[in-house]
Amino acid sequence: MWPYYPELLARPVPRYTSFPTAAEFRDAVGSSDHEAALATVVPGAAVSLYLHIPYCEQICWYCGCNTGAANKSARLAAYLDALHAEIDLLAGRISDRVRISRVAFGGGSPNAIDTAAFGRLVAHLNDRFDTGDAVLSVELDPRGYMPEWTDVLARARVTRASLGVQTFNPSVQAKIGRVQPTNLIAEVTKELRSVGIESINFDLMYGLPGQDLPELFDSLDQAIALRPERLAVFGYAHVPHLIPRQKRIDGAELPDQFGRFRQAAFAHHLLVKARYQPVGFDHFALPGDGLAVAAREGRLRRNFQGFTEDRAEVLIGLGASAISQFPGLLTQNEKSAGRYRMRTLAGQFATERGVLRTAEDQARGRIIERLLCHGAADGAARFPAARASLDPFAAAGLIALDEDRLELTDRALPYARAIAACFDPYRQVDPRRFSSAV
Ligand code: SF4
Repeated sequence: MWPYYPELLARPVPRYTSFPTAAEFRDAVGSSDHEAALATVVPGAAVSLYLHIPYCEQICWYCGCNTGAANKSARLAAYLDALHAEIDLLAGRISDRVRISRVAFGGGSPNAIDTAAFGRLVAHLNDRFDTGDAVLSVELDPRGYMPEWTDVLARARVTRASLGVQTFNPSVQAKIGRVQPTNLIAEVTKELRSVGIESINFDLMYGLPGQDLPELFDSLDQAIALRPERLAVFGYAHVPHLIPRQKRIDGAELPDQFGRFRQAAFAHHLLVKARYQPVGFDHFALPGDGLAVAAREGRLRRNFQGFTEDRAEVLIGLGASAISQFPGLLTQNEKSAGRYRMRTLAGQFATERGVLRTAEDQARGRIIERLLCHGAADGAARFPAARASLDPFAAAGLIALDEDRLELTDRALPYARAIAACFDPYRQVDPRRFSSAV
């Protein structure tokens, strides 16, 4: 069991999929900044693409994603037209000098669109970019998975898939508005494996309404039996004041902070026992999977898609609300699908907001990323205020700090985000925007 220091977990902290975080985005940054950043991408650079499909067949009550119901085919078709237009717009700026290292389809649920539309998107990307060596991944909702997807994913050369599972328990599923029988998840997993999808991820959750340790044990046991190559185990963040659909979840049924802490520790222990390698603070992978190898070799990175072995410095998000990441700039597209469509179909990038990353931001961001990915970072000497705020963690024996180097001890994993937050000077803002550190 990890040591429990509630006072060190009391402050809500970001997940740090970027630094500065999206909370620092301002609308002073716009499409001209995005275009200027694209112009600086050097010839021969590896670039990753993320395509956002903000629609789902069914909306889960806990979900904080920018997504809506996929119940109107005309709306989906209009959105896809805009996405194709953005692919052309981007290709016109950079396709002659970059190669694409990754293409990730996320959402929402990419399988909320039909298979023909998905095939057309992949064909368009292949036509406009050098995607010959690209690794393709897709997020899938098992509830909307039709058998024809298997062939389409194989033809598209998709090699990675992530399934939204969350819990195998029918009673907890009912309490979060996501009912999907175990045999459906097993069937989809089998289908994906049959066409050589070599890395399958399950997203799981703890801290759900009505969840307790026996239920969590049962869910993890069922997940382990299906042997996905990767597992992400997230704590449910209940913030109905920010995400109105969460009002359908009964807050009185949620475990308290100590309950969440015990569940996180229990999941960690069980997955390690089942021979999964911990990756970062909430991912696990079989030792032969690329993510586990990257973690062992010190190549793990963190970006908007979470922990990744992707090494590209430039990640370009396409679609409504999609975020792009350049060394000196983060930008986000219009969140409203309607405004995104209008701007993109008018031949403009639909950047709505963003933040310039100063040299200091980049130095702080490197420390935060190294701490979360590898549990150690150099460069602390440059930030005396951050060093001073680490004192309580040092007193608890969670860190070792010398002149310049900070290392997390092996008991510090649940505190990693809170420790990383010491290097984040923006965190004086409204803490209600963020989730508990466990
Ligand atoms: S399927 Fe995924 S993206 Fe869609 S509502 Fe559920 S959790 Fe959110």
